[in-house]
Amino acid sequence: MRPDTLCVQGGYQPQCGEPRQVPIYATTTFKYDTTQHMGDLFDLKASGYFYTRLANPTNDLVAKKIAALEGGVAAILTSSGQAASTFAILNICNAGDHVVSSAQIYGGTFNLFAVSLKKLGIEFTFVDPDADEKTIQAAFRPNTKCVFGETVANPSGVILDIEKFAKIAHKNGVPLIVDNTFPTPILCRPFRFGADIVTHATTKYMDGHSSQVGGCIVDSGNFDWTRYPERFAGLVEPDESYHGLSYTEKFGKLAYITKCTAHLMRDFGSIPSPFNAFLVNLGLESLHVRMRRHAESALKIAKWLKSREEVAWVNYAGLSDSKYKKLLKKQFDGPAPCGVMTFGIKGGRKASIKFMDSLKLIGIVTHVADAWSCVLHPASHTHRQLTDKQLKEAGIPPDLIRLSIGLEDPQDLIEDIEQALKKVKVNKKK
Ligand SMILES: *Cc1c(COP(=O)(O)O)cnc(C)c1O
Repeated sequence: MRPDTLCVQGGYQPQCGEPRQVPIYATTTFKYDTTQHMGDLFDLKASGYFYTRLANPTNDLVAKKIAALEGGVAAILTSSGQAASTFAILNICNAGDHVVSSAQIYGGTFNLFAVSLKKLGIEFTFVDPDADEKTIQAAFRPNTKCVFGETVANPSGVILDIEKFAKIAHKNGVPLIVDNTFPTPILCRPFRFGADIVTHATTKYMDGHSSQVGGCIVDSGNFDWTRYPERFAGLVEPDESYHGLSYTEKFGKLAYITKCTAHLMRDFGSIPSPFNAFLVNLGLESLHVRMRRHAESALKIAKWLKSREEVAWVNYAGLSDSKYKKLLKKQFDGPAPCGVMTFGIKGGRKASIKFMDSLKLIGIVTHVADAWSCVLHPASHTHRQLTDKQLKEAGIPPDLIRLSIGLEDPQDLIEDIEQALKKVKVNKKK
């Protein structure tokens, strides 16, 4: 099946007389006939469901669709994008380990890495994703366990050179994990460029209708953990909490996702409700249609913004003068990376606020990447504790507006932006 067909029919093909739509298994538990059978499930000797904190059939059908879309061997749904990033790291890192991460990542992920996982004893070194290989290589340590990056960084729009990062990761004998939330597999499939594991906030485009918070981890199955049995002992060596089972020995290419289920989900929870998985699946059924429309409308609006004298700058990789033009062409299917862009208005912070307050159709929300167009002003919202000087250091100009283009008629959005721009009094020479 091609991606557009997978969006509709991937993961679940009902047999004769079975429900057309993915059933919601609203059950905590599953019944078995014998004590032995249930015991074998607990020992991972038999496969099957026994408790929804570890796994649920609705979730797995939806995860299978996402795995197929990314071209991976297996996937697991999580209760949020944050949980997906946490588990993707914790599945291979222990206290005392180290991770090399792109510095251009979602703010929530940055806090997770730099604050919370650091408190658990995992250290992160953040590198400029545009740096050369030598500079990135210098960040590695003997205890580095993986490399992390974001295909299209939220909110900076920086495009990750996946092949460059995969090459460096593999040279150092570690996997590359990529957060592919913004392009989704419709516009970019990171496994084609050497990424080993992909994460998603399904909260965004995959759901697409602001209806649930969720995440997903997909494994390509390509990274050979057994080549480095000491480095990835948790996957290769016996797990005493399962009577000495080795995940790689027993499950082969499914080792990483099986450990995520059997170990992290068992101990930490973070499983999504099957009802939320059902909502994600409804979103996935139209993902291919929506993503192309998001990208097409965003490109049109980015070009229009660029032509306006009130606008100081526009950052969108789809624009012809973007420094990521070559990378976009190589890694993406289509002329634009997603529906999200950033721009600034002449007149700085004050003008940006006036502009946003004047919008009528485009809403002020913390969310991005769904059917409803929206804006966020990081200097007033997500980063409001920072001074203008600190904002500059964090790479967030005080005038930066994040604009997420939804599925409305782009001409209506342009007219909304135009009337709001007219309300901003700008010193045009500035
Ligand atoms: C929103 C987002 C996340 C976190 O997802 P939640 O579902 O909000 O936890 C992670 N990565 C990216 C790129 C995001 O945009």
